[in-house]
Amino acid sequence: MAAITLEKVTGLLAQEVERFVGERPKSARLYEQAKKNLVGGVPMSWMRIWTGGFPVFVDKAEGVFITDVDGHRYLDLCLGDTGGLCGHAHPKIVEAITRQMKNRGTTTMLPTEDCVWVGGELQRRFGLPYWQVLMTATDANRMALKVARSFTGRQLILCFNGTYHGSVDETLVVNFFGEIINIPGMLGPIVPDATQMTRVIDFNDVDALEKALAPGDIACVITEPVMTNLGIIPPEPGYHDALRAITKKYGTLLLIDETHSMCAGPRGITGEMGLKPDIFVAGKFVAGGYPAAVLGFTREISDWMAAREPWHNFFGFGGTLSGNATAVAGIRAAFEHVINDENFSRMIALAERMEKGLADIIRRNGLAWYVARIGCRVEFRFLPKPPKNGSEAMFAEVDYNAVDIVTEGLTGPLDALIHVWCANRGVLLTPVHEMALVGPTATEQDVDHYVSVIAGLVDALVK
Ligand code: PMP
Repeated sequence: MAAITLEKVTGLLAQEVERFVGERPKSARLYEQAKKNLVGGVPMSWMRIWTGGFPVFVDKAEGVFITDVDGHRYLDLCLGDTGGLCGHAHPKIVEAITRQMKNRGTTTMLPTEDCVWVGGELQRRFGLPYWQVLMTATDANRMALKVARSFTGRQLILCFNGTYHGSVDETLVVNFFGEIINIPGMLGPIVPDATQMTRVIDFNDVDALEKALAPGDIACVITEPVMTNLGIIPPEPGYHDALRAITKKYGTLLLIDETHSMCAGPRGITGEMGLKPDIFVAGKFVAGGYPAAVLGFTREISDWMAAREPWHNFFGFGGTLSGNATAVAGIRAAFEHVINDENFSRMIALAERMEKGLADIIRRNGLAWYVARIGCRVEFRFLPKPPKNGSEAMFAEVDYNAVDIVTEGLTGPLDALIHVWCANRGVLLTPVHEMALVGPTATEQDVDHYVSVIAGLVDALVK
């Protein structure tokens, strides 16, 4: 087998970018116009991370397809990086949201009947009895950590190396070979000394957890049930049991952030595995992508909050739009009609097909890559085997073996090539990772199309 060389990758990338730009004159023009008034030519700087030189401008989005302003139709495997996991413009969610807006307004700072249904349904799925609704998972995590600090009277929180929980200052830290620092290059820094707010250890390391919590000064451990943001890193057998037992032993609250891992099934990993967190967060697609997140608490925490002066539950989290009736109507519609067993069993079967297709390509070509899946989320990485934790994922010396290529971190040329290659062949893949989400209306043909696009690229690279 011929090696994949950096020369081949950069050569192909140049060709593909030229094609991408040439075939999208209208997006290119709009991007130039947008640059006059929008920072970096986009309404949110995150949209600059697409490869090809500019993001495509969207004309239509429906189900798992997006059409851009130049008329290209894409199978959308990014799905708004999970925000669109219910499928774009799902008719039931659109109907519920528009009904709410037309008849009762968008936001009134008053509850509607839907919130009663939503509270009951969230308890049924995730176990926790008391809930709040926020605008984003970031918002929900920020509120959760503030509540945890006040409730326990402790200042520090603990997160796992390489984790991501949104724009949450306490978690935008990294353990760099023993030194706890703000993520390098981030605007800020947020605090001069990150050790004053966060302790950072590795996921799947029970001894390190025991040692980190033993001083009894950690308010809360915040974790995804399966790490997702550096590739999929599953918990080792028994890890969740140990996590729950050790947090309880030292009076530390456990916050499970299911924002990404809800792709495992309609009850998230928390519901599927019967996890028992003190605090639970999910966001992104819980209202079909309309801004909303849910935050669950135990009875003990909720009673403690309720017993405080209402005034004291007011500052420092949420906002006037949080819990707005439209978001609540969207959550109800998403859980009632979309986030259900019927859809998930179909989506997961398709994701298994995708996983198998990609694994076959890797095997056939002897690539030192692996493919991993949680529910309907499938991704491959340029590593020979899945890392055990975030430090390994970020810092491991990798022997690329069959692949004679130096990838420059997450946005290296191979990653860029894969994304622009896919876009030129009608597939949108999530920026920054090789991550694909299978939405509710995807079909076997859609999955096979994506797999064949990747197979074509690998052929071109190894020939
Ligand atoms: N939690 C996790 C696990 C996430 O991956 C993210 C975003 N990718 C968030 C929270 C924050 O979500 P949002 O940006 O919608 O606030």
